[in-house]
Amino acid sequence: MSKQILILPGDGIGPEIVTQAVAVLEAVDKQCGLGLQLDYGLLGGAAIDEHGEPCPQVTLDKARAAEAILLGAVGGPKWDTIERSIRPERGLLKIRSELQLFGNLRPAILYPQLAAASSLKPEIVAGLDILIVRELTGGIYFGEPRGIRTLENGEREGYNTYKYSESEIRRIGHLAFDAARKRNGRVCSVDKANVLEATMLWREVMEELSKDYPDVELSHMYVDNAAMQLVLRPKQFDVIVTGNMFGDILSDAAAMLTGSIGMLPSASLDKDGRGMYEPCHGSAPDIAGQDKANPLATILSVAMMLRYTLAAPEAADLVEAAVSKVLDAGLRTGDIHSEGMQLVGTREMGEAVVAAL
Ligand code: NAD
Repeated sequence: MSKQILILPGDGIGPEIVTQAVAVLEAVDKQCGLGLQLDYGLLGGAAIDEHGEPCPQVTLDKARAAEAILLGAVGGPKWDTIERSIRPERGLLKIRSELQLFGNLRPAILYPQLAAASSLKPEIVAGLDILIVRELTGGIYFGEPRGIRTLENGEREGYNTYKYSESEIRRIGHLAFDAARKRNGRVCSVDKANVLEATMLWREVMEELSKDYPDVELSHMYVDNAAMQLVLRPKQFDVIVTGNMFGDILSDAAAMLTGSIGMLPSASLDKDGRGMYEPCHGSAPDIAGQDKANPLATILSVAMMLRYTLAAPEAADLVEAAVSKVLDAGLRTGDIHSEGMQLVGTREMGEAVVAAL
């Protein structure tokens, strides 16, 4: 049976890194006989230019028909001054919420070959393997009411709403506990339950849920402490589960522990395991079109797609092994380059991974 994959290259470095990731996907498809069928669509600034909106209906229709989506990144200075409600990032939020992609999995793994690229000492980060499970369709990024209003005294006031329903907390909790079962059996739930009522409920629901998972150890941490612990003793964590905003910030901090944001894949899943796969980084307008971007985060996102949505773990292993082999060979894009290593561009890195497959 053929499986439909939607490719959304996006903006900035998106098209460059996606071209390399698609080459890897096609190579592994051929090798493993997966029967994939690729289709293309527009999201973000590219969609604004063509359709006047960042997530047009045609893209949504294709996304709904697809088993999985591979996205580059969206946004850039070209669209920074247009009206807020139709900026590229709104397209991303829309597709995530329309497809109910509520569970964002962001692994932070330090490849041993890159231990020197981390800003922390190798003994603190060597062997790091954390999975951050971030709630993606609720919390303060979506809460209503929101806006900027003018008060009676003429002063402007910005406001947002932080809220989570019990069912929203429960479903992201399940995802985290299930993931911990396949890893080292520990979940740390991050909240700000000493200040925010919404996260007091978050903590209560996580406690209730943990009764269904007696084999998984649950702990709680306030977000400020979690930020501190991530740079102090990051290896204490196995799975971290948290809300949308805290997850956004902590996963970027965890990303830097691994040396480069250019190495980190992510998956956003719905309740049936269908999902959108994308690198953790943005569209990097500063290096777009220069063959400088690291395509490995997008290539590793392909590996996550194979593992989580396409149920082809052996194909995922092949892609991850090919990436490791290329790093062993000393190939490095600028973001992970160090002395003695071979500096390569986006295309050469992608081609090396395909060759290693
Ligand atoms: P960014 O992640 O695009 O870039 C931050 C820094 O990391 C830059 O110096 C960039 O050159 C570097 N970098 C990022 N990816 C890289 C890669 N693959 N290889 C080498 N270096 C890489 O974040 P930003 O500069 O804050 O945002 C740029 C644009 O991207 C903005 O418009 C922002 O809204 C958008 N953005 C999109 C997403 C997304 O599509 N998911 C996420 C974050 C930011």
